[in-house]
Amino acid sequence: MRLCRFGQNQLGLVDGTDVIDVSEALGGLPKPEYPPLPHDVMIERLDDIRDHAQRLAPQARRIPLSEVRLLSPVGAPGKLVAAPVNYTRHLEEVREQADLNHNNLAHMREIREIGLFLKANSSLIGPSEDIALRFPDRRNDHEIELAVVIGRTADRVPASQALEHVAGYCIGLDMTVRGSEDRSFRKSLDTFSVLGPWLVTADELGEPGDLDFELSVNGDLRQAANTRDLVLSVPDLIEYASSFYTLHPGDVIFTGTPEGVAPVLPGDVITAKMARIGEFSIRVGGQ
Ligand code: MN
Repeated sequence: MRLCRFGQNQLGLVDGTDVIDVSEALGGLPKPEYPPLPHDVMIERLDDIRDHAQRLAPQARRIPLSEVRLLSPVGAPGKLVAAPVNYTRHLEEVREQADLNHNNLAHMREIREIGLFLKANSSLIGPSEDIALRFPDRRNDHEIELAVVIGRTADRVPASQALEHVAGYCIGLDMTVRGSEDRSFRKSLDTFSVLGPWLVTADELGEPGDLDFELSVNGDLRQAANTRDLVLSVPDLIEYASSFYTLHPGDVIFTGTPEGVAPVLPGDVITAKMARIGEFSIRVGGQ
């Protein structure tokens, strides 16, 4: 199943080139409480919502996908976890371009040495919003990544059981401004985490370890790779992350980007495609 969020926090089933509005399936979600729960309540209840959405679909309104404004498929994740240098050829590229990060040695070590990092939740947008470059005078790079959405609470989960904890997958863009600051700071600017175009549920996507994907800017191919070349696979990443902290429903893991990261400028259009997920295009704007 392909589930999108669109418009005014509506829920859609993606069917070919249409969205079926099944927002009524969100009716049973709990009202916001204070303090809010540390997880995304829609993802937590995804199994019930899917069943309800399927019952609603035959009678529900259909809207062409081209007419809807796509939001991030996860509305309120508890945290955005991200893997640095998780493709060997990208690590080589980072080492070759070390001057871009002021030769900071922390950015050139292997993933098991440096661990994972967090991106601010406030950086999250969907593909119908614009990426805003606050520092257009500095180099701002695109990074396309497979994004994993956690579906069940995962605390110290072994890799062999990790995929049972996944709700689904999206395409992620981990945008980055280059410089001397800490990685998490440079990747947490507003709009610098993009998830889209929708959530493909884990049962529909199947094995995440063999997905072709590519990113182009204004039609020019910049990145093309396959998730089989991940250093830490999706199960490895869930094991590693959950060995340090509990992963909650709706938490997102950006799995890392392959080689080919390159700058974008205001006015550019980034197109991201991934096998068995889909594609989206997003505009890069000014400040
Ligand atoms: Mn990244």
